[in-house]
Amino acid sequence: MKAWVFHAFGDMRLEEVPDPKAKSGYAVCKIRRVQPSITDVQRALGIGTINSALLKKQLEEHAPVQLLGHEMSAEVVEVGDGVSTLSPGDIVCTSGHIPCGVCDWCKEGKDPWCIDKLHVGINTPGAFAEMISLPEEGLVKVPEVLDDVSVACLQPFSSAVAAVRDSKISVGNSVAVTGQGVMGIYILQAARMCGAGSVFVTDVKEEALSLSEKFAADLVINAREKDAVSEVLKATKGKGVDIVFECAGGNPDQGLSGHETKQQAFEMVRIGGRVVQVAGLVGSVNVDPVFMRTQGINWIFPEGHGRDTISLGADWVAGGRVDLKSLVTHEVSGIDKLPEAMEITHKKEEYKATNPCQVALE
Ligand SMILES: [Zn+2]
Repeated sequence: MKAWVFHAFGDMRLEEVPDPKAKSGYAVCKIRRVQPSITDVQRALGIGTINSALLKKQLEEHAPVQLLGHEMSAEVVEVGDGVSTLSPGDIVCTSGHIPCGVCDWCKEGKDPWCIDKLHVGINTPGAFAEMISLPEEGLVKVPEVLDDVSVACLQPFSSAVAAVRDSKISVGNSVAVTGQGVMGIYILQAARMCGAGSVFVTDVKEEALSLSEKFAADLVINAREKDAVSEVLKATKGKGVDIVFECAGGNPDQGLSGHETKQQAFEMVRIGGRVVQVAGLVGSVNVDPVFMRTQGINWIFPEGHGRDTISLGADWVAGGRVDLKSLVTHEVSGIDKLPEAMEITHKKEEYKATNPCQVALE
């Protein structure tokens, strides 16, 4: 089969490699569609991000090596001995990690916390290939009615589902979402599914905010034109919202807000409210503990997604209650076009892309 093989950071080559085998407990799947995540693109280029140290080690010890690719739609073509939940023809995606199944966290059902998990595309060959072989517990079967475009989005969407679950949202809670990139829109939809009352959203880009309107946000605030905190306080009669999902922070060099929206989140949440840190944090983080203590702010870091949040998200999409597909603005055809998809994903703003660019293999 053809697969992208990494020789070094910034040096990946499409090569002919042996087809993967259906070992005991494993399923071999044909990739139907894959999208490079933003972190995959950063990892490929050697830009420091989550698990880059692990990737560096893999390159140093094993290059040339097949790496990256975990946001996929794939079809099971062969299963090894002992596989009981998957059969040829099933459509699957992956949560991106393979839990060990035996540590204390795994036994408690908290597989995102597994102390010995394998990362798909880092510790194992990933989905930037025509086929992939993964252990059964690393794959999630999805409803047959789903289209490949949506299935390839389920892994990142499941992070939004996990963040909303961990916010402990109750029916009617007011919500603010800072940032209306793909994750912000995912959170908007997932919060609605979980009973959110009014949802207020902020961004600095008109294109992003017009999407929020399409997804029926109650109040859309252009933070370049108006003070986001004052607008949210005004809309809540000075009280602030029950929950803020901070989805805009991160490295300003990559077009993200740095720590500005985090600070806004602390100021737009009500006394005793919850701020869920969905976006990454970079550099040294300034937080005023006296302010946090006085306001009783709960700053929450989501526990992480797993098979359960993928399956829940898949059911919402299958039932037509959540729309992931219309956020996919760019696609290319053929595994050889992966570099083009990575370029578009890396420069989403320049290409006016919302979701990462998908690669169709069929
Ligand atoms: Zn474990």
